[in-house]
Amino acid sequence: MGELVKKIVKTIKVDLDKCNGCRACEIACAAFHAKPKYSSFNPARSRIRMVIDERNDEWVAIRATDYTKAGCDGRRVYTINGKEYSECSFCGTICPTRDLFFEPDSGLPLKCDMCEGEEVPMCVQICSRDALTCEEKEVEVEEQVKPGEMEIGLKSLVDKYGLRKLADTFARMAQK
Ligand code: SF4
Ligand code: SF4
Repeated sequence: MGELVKKIVKTIKVDLDKCNGCRACEIACAAFHAKPKYSSFNPARSRIRMVIDERNDEWVAIRATDYTKAGCDGRRVYTINGKEYSECSFCGTICPTRDLFFEPDSGLPLKCDMCEGEEVPMCVQICSRDALTCEEKEVEVEEQVKPGEMEIGLKSLVDKYGLRKLADTFARMAQK
């Protein structure tokens, strides 16, 4: 077990009453992470996505958190202000049971990085309804090395193609 350390972590709070589902946050996130920066704004590449269920008047912005290769069985229902939301509406896990948070061309997971280098994340900056608020809090966590973006991507490739095929591909590429 790792040592417990205090850390300041940033998080984004979503006010369900203020969000009107305009999806500007998706565009801002996708544009910020485009390569080159701001060269495209495909919402499918955003690390924040709107979960929309118009029938139930449900509009929830969720940020991509961790990658998992298997979906969970959690099917709880939350009642907030008399409205019912499924558990998945609030879950940011990058999971195979839905098509959110996978880069459309490569299929690699897209995780929120809190817009590294920006004091205020782009999705928070763009939201004209103030539905998103960036907060910092001190938490005590077990010290561990968090997987970086490359490690997350490689893990998903291993899950998809298997280690042997990936290793063979690397070997072939190294010979070129
Ligand atoms: S920009 Fe704000 S109001 Fe628009 S969808 Fe995103 S969170 Fe909702
Ligand atoms: S904090 Fe940045 S990376 Fe995360 S969802 Fe918002 S815009 Fe995207």
